[in-house]
Amino acid sequence: MRYSQFPLTTLKETPAEAEIVSHQLMLRAGLIRRLASGLFTWMPLGLKVLRKVEAVVREEMDRAGALELLMPAVQPAELWQETGRWEQYGPLLLRMSDRHDREFCFGPTHEEVITDVARRELRSYRQLPVNYYQIQTKFRDEIRPRFGVMRSREFVMKDAYSFDMDQEGLQASYQKMFEAYTAIFERLGLSFRVVDADSGEIGGSRSQEFHVIADSGEDAIAYCDDDNYAANIESAAIERPAEARPPAKQPLESVDTPDVRSIEALTQFLNVRPADTLKTLIVEGDEGPVALVLRGDHELNAVKAQKLPGVRSPLTMAGADSVRAATGVSPGFVGPVGLDMKTYFDHATATMADCVAGANEEDRHLTGVNFGRDIEETDTVDLRNVVAGDPTPGGNGTLSIARGIEVGHIFQLGDKYSRAMNATVLDSNGRERAMAMGCYGIGITRIVGAAIEQNHDEQGIVWPAALAPFDVVIVPINMDKSERVRTAAEELYRELEARNIDVLLDDRAARPGVKFADAELIGIPHRLVVSERNLDAGELEYRHRRDGESRNLKRDEALDLLPNG
Ligand code: ATP
Ligand code: MG
Repeated sequence: MRYSQFPLTTLKETPAEAEIVSHQLMLRAGLIRRLASGLFTWMPLGLKVLRKVEAVVREEMDRAGALELLMPAVQPAELWQETGRWEQYGPLLLRMSDRHDREFCFGPTHEEVITDVARRELRSYRQLPVNYYQIQTKFRDEIRPRFGVMRSREFVMKDAYSFDMDQEGLQASYQKMFEAYTAIFERLGLSFRVVDADSGEIGGSRSQEFHVIADSGEDAIAYCDDDNYAANIESAAIERPAEARPPAKQPLESVDTPDVRSIEALTQFLNVRPADTLKTLIVEGDEGPVALVLRGDHELNAVKAQKLPGVRSPLTMAGADSVRAATGVSPGFVGPVGLDMKTYFDHATATMADCVAGANEEDRHLTGVNFGRDIEETDTVDLRNVVAGDPTPGGNGTLSIARGIEVGHIFQLGDKYSRAMNATVLDSNGRERAMAMGCYGIGITRIVGAAIEQNHDEQGIVWPAALAPFDVVIVPINMDKSERVRTAAEELYRELEARNIDVLLDDRAARPGVKFADAELIGIPHRLVVSERNLDAGELEYRHRRDGESRNLKRDEALDLLPNG
């Protein structure tokens, strides 16, 4: 490709709307342009990268025996009604109706459609196992689209769905996908971690996520390498501590705490540690509100809480009015002493004594709150997010926390969809059996952002080899003035093209500094400089984007450093 034929607008300034570095660099390098909230155009340069991701994914899926198909992006409501997800999915689902007033959605995922395909196509156990996949555009009306293509509303996903006779077959199909995903992320040159995950909306049993490790990641991952444990913080379990509760020392007292509504304000006002306070959160339940009580410095885990009996899923915090109606006070002053509603206590409260808590009276708190005396001793439950230093579930190690970007997710769905939609095949005894399903997603567009989060420097993107839009850039110095430089650069360009190397010739009449800066911003791995001076010596100046040192090398030596096309 010649730069002169590639209208590429790079930006010097950091666009104000972009919060994280990958989004900034994707805009600056001209990979994407924004159309509207969560909607982006992939410009030619960006699309080259996207196609490279797709190619690796496609190759590894094919190698694993999966079959590519392409389903419609628009899906009829009836299929979603069969599984009950038309109601459950909520506002994330973009709904629409056609000229006949029939309802449709723009697919956020394809379990329903593929199960419909499978129940029509697959009849006998002899046809199984089958794994269908597609690479296709999805739409999710995300509450907060942000970080560019990382959390957009329209995005490209690779989604695969396996069909087996039984759980044993499903496990084998799942294992194959685990291996294919590992191969994909290794080939893409990303540093990643596989974590146990909550199976969330889609439901089912085993589920693991593939995360690219990056500080800007939206997910927190709890891990312990000694114990070979890693889980999304959403699903990292913590057990009840083994230690006994210390004895009560303080009497129960009610103190004036005017306008003190947060744990932070409370600890300052009363000069106590957050770990000595009880935080009482009111959520909606099936039969009126439910109280969730945590240690003041701990964070509620919504995924855990919404699984508790009587608690509404998805977890819904009670509004101030409904808190007042249920307790008689504003949210900041609710506490567990004498609270007349279903109450769950987090495990960590099992070792607390002499606590501070809301008094269920406006502008007042209680000090010296003790279990067994002021609050009945009850069973405790797992309600909170784990923190660094917590024990691993086996108790043999200590957790650390890292941030990650979820780029892939594999699930064992079991027969949830096949049963709801009656997707059966005949087994070897001629009996109808619901198929065992798995589903496997990869965020194709998100990978591009995640790769940049992990691979950049002050000057711009530093692409891993497999993702670079071009392998090599040729920068001729003063090509417009020197015929010799022009001829040598053109010759080199043709030679590399003939070798099937993805090469960009910067044939613009621009200053060398501008060309170098653009090549660095775009992140092209290999750079060759052609100038009068190095032509005299029969040399080329070579530089790899990652090490930053440029070297003058004999032409052949320099060309030997380039990848094989
Ligand atoms: P998240 O927790 O990030 O919202 P998810 O768990 O809802 O994602 P899945 O249903 O597992 O997503 O979808 C499979 C993959 O699609 C994800 O692993 C992710 O890489 C990608 N993906 C999901 N939502 C988006 C989005 N809004 N923008 C870009 N990629 C996305
Ligand atoms: Mg997921």
